[in-house]
Amino acid sequence: MNLRIFNSLTKTIEEFKPLNPANVTFYGCGPTVYDHVHIGNLRSFVLYDLLKRVLEFNNFQVQFIENLTDVDDKIIKRSAEMGISPSELSEKFSKVFFDDISKLNILPANNYPKATEHVSEMIKFIEVLLGKGLAYQEADGSVYFDVSKFANYGKLSGVDKSQIKSGTRILSDEYSKDDVQDFALWKMVKGSEVGWDSPWGKGRPGWHIECSVMSQQFLGDTIDIHAGGVDLLFPHHENEIAQSEGVSGKSFVRYWVHGEHLLVDGAKMSKSLGNFYTLVDIENKGIDPLALRYLFLTAHYRDKLNFTWESLTAAQNALNNLRETIRNWDQPVVGCAEHEQRFTEALDNDLNTAQALAILWELVKSDYPTSAKAGSLLKMDQVLGLGLAEFVAKKIDVPENVMELVSQREEARKNSDYHKSDQLRKQIKDLGFEVLDTLDGSKVNKIN
Ligand code: AMP
Ligand code: ZN
Repeated sequence: MNLRIFNSLTKTIEEFKPLNPANVTFYGCGPTVYDHVHIGNLRSFVLYDLLKRVLEFNNFQVQFIENLTDVDDKIIKRSAEMGISPSELSEKFSKVFFDDISKLNILPANNYPKATEHVSEMIKFIEVLLGKGLAYQEADGSVYFDVSKFANYGKLSGVDKSQIKSGTRILSDEYSKDDVQDFALWKMVKGSEVGWDSPWGKGRPGWHIECSVMSQQFLGDTIDIHAGGVDLLFPHHENEIAQSEGVSGKSFVRYWVHGEHLLVDGAKMSKSLGNFYTLVDIENKGIDPLALRYLFLTAHYRDKLNFTWESLTAAQNALNNLRETIRNWDQPVVGCAEHEQRFTEALDNDLNTAQALAILWELVKSDYPTSAKAGSLLKMDQVLGLGLAEFVAKKIDVPENVMELVSQREEARKNSDYHKSDQLRKQIKDLGFEVLDTLDGSKVNKIN
């Protein structure tokens, strides 16, 4: 079976056939770097990474571009509050973002272009839209896209075109989910506000234009895949289509991929609702960021996932059990073809990660020689990205005195003497080992 993926444009699962298998072009909408990203954003970034890995597993070569929004209303407001420049703020949080994604084993994109570094191309792009009569300038100098002039407006989101309020405009970067309105391509700024010179005076780009321009610049007029969270489908992606197809006259994206949200108590995790956690919160609770990746993989990307600390702890336990089991395995050799086959089929079936994980566990529990299981597991982990190579066949020699302290600690725990058990944990740590409490009892790791 070949790779099949749900295309939000056609609303069907389609076989993935790139324009050029040796250069699959893939663009993902990246973060606005004004603060730590939350773990909802990270769910979308793990989806991009998963899709890229699955494509590579299918022997495609992928060129993946993810933008950094380093100028918008939020960045300007936050940097003013902090008394620093927008670029200082975005530099700081770009670093935090790169740190976060590397902790989640997200492979680096080919490029992370920044909006502020492509303003002159955006100006040229807007000039073309004006020249084609698809955009107009307002009295205050700002330039807007005229949605009524783009015949295919609504083809992705299915918005009712009769609702189009041409001539009613949206200037803010915070967009209404209901109204179909002309949107800002170029926003005039006054006085000392951040801005660039343009044929229309000093201003800055609207949010949507950066993705159209950077996608075209790095990947060409027509790209294979464009991904984002479902909240971006309308108006962001609809507007990107209008801008890009308006300029090139060609189809912009062949496969649109949208990931569902991470929820908290049934509501979308978001900065504006204040119901969000960051990777710092996860690490402060002693949880490995890769347990979060594991948790994301337990759900299908098109299903909502409700975040709870219980489910994250369960994911951590599952990962701990997996790591401890595979430590005792023999060195990897050629694996179990049958499990590998079913695993690949699950992922090729619109990225069914939950099923892929179930097949991995079936393999782990099977009677195959551990060396063959290790071979298959490492292949599977090329796609899952759980960092298992570090643990396979890495049996630890635990000295007798440490083992003795571990059994004393188990005894103390049985007697609910948590004070003593904590003391013993500390003694064990001082000897260079850590104890993990798993469902199968205490496990010992060497501290690196
Ligand atoms: P933003 O920085 O808000 O533009 O978001 C960056 C990415 O995270 C986009 O692809 C959003 O669709 C996605 N995103 C935002 N909130 C969530 C959420 N709660 N769950 C999953 N993805 C999200
Ligand atoms: Zn975008």
